[in-house]
Amino acid sequence: MIINMAEGATEAEIQHVVDNIVLCGYQPHVIRGSERTIVAAVGSGGNRALLEALKVAPGVEDAIPIAHPFKLVSRQVRREPSVIEVAGVKIGGDEVIVIAGPCSVESREQLLDTAVAVKNAGAHMLRGGAYKPRTSPYDFQGLGIEALKILAEARELTGLPVVTEVMSTEDLDLIAEHADVLQVGARNMQNFALLRRLAKSNRPILLKRGPSATVKEWLLAAEYLLSGGNSQVILCERGIKTFETELRNTIDLAAIALAKELSHLPVIADPSHGTGRRSLINAVSRAAIAVGADGLIVEVHPCPERALSDGPQSLDLQGFAAMIRSLSEPLRRLAPLQMEASA
Ligand code: PEP
Ligand code: MN
Repeated sequence: MIINMAEGATEAEIQHVVDNIVLCGYQPHVIRGSERTIVAAVGSGGNRALLEALKVAPGVEDAIPIAHPFKLVSRQVRREPSVIEVAGVKIGGDEVIVIAGPCSVESREQLLDTAVAVKNAGAHMLRGGAYKPRTSPYDFQGLGIEALKILAEARELTGLPVVTEVMSTEDLDLIAEHADVLQVGARNMQNFALLRRLAKSNRPILLKRGPSATVKEWLLAAEYLLSGGNSQVILCERGIKTFETELRNTIDLAAIALAKELSHLPVIADPSHGTGRRSLINAVSRAAIAVGADGLIVEVHPCPERALSDGPQSLDLQGFAAMIRSLSEPLRRLAPLQMEASA
């Protein structure tokens, strides 16, 4: 249920609503917008009739049910987009941001070279996997703590905030010490134990959509984070499994627009995992921006053919710089429409 406070509702009136939501057996969440305050009541098993009666409490304009199973994530609860700030970089605001770096941190030289190059090309943040979720146990699994130290050094050197994946609750504290944003990989989108722990972290979370998750399941995964106390969540569309075999995954561009319609959270696109092909990164990045993505996360490697993971979808350093330049080119314009002249 959403309790819409009237414009000019006093702090005492808001507090009265909060206290009553608790008495009814629900959890209150106060969302302060630029014009008015909303108090969301979430949970189950409380006294709903009593909650609905708050409609006539002082300072309340209306009480309306939340239409979707995800509540705090919903646009209904917060009409303005959420802007997540990471060390001065704003995600979800007016500007599209670019996160770039290798799939995996492989060596100090590889990461520092990449970090400097992506920074010079205009990237806003640096990515790099330290703990890698690999389909085969025989594939490179990441350098772990050594990679975290290299990432922290790259941040020192370039000033770029760092994004890296957390695969397990065991590594969380260590990773949070070294990284600015914690990535939940696609395979872990529904690792509820991990989501619950991340909800208690003070780091922003980059939540990737699972390869076979619906948009509703993805937003419900985000709901675990918000309802547990962490509202700094960035959604990331990275492609889903379809019958298509030419592409590694099928990036779901409509899901980006839909997630932005349903939720106030920022949504970014991962054209690297979303296609698996270097040649498509440029076109798909432009398309993602056109449908409203707030940013991109792109894999970049100094020598993709020698990459220990995801080489075929990685841009080299020059390729990334060229891609960034192309993002500022206007989209091809519609031919003049043959409208009938009005009489
Ligand atoms: C990655 O970002 O390198 C990664 C493993 O992504 P995903 O979880 O989307 O497969
Ligand atoms: Mn990868």
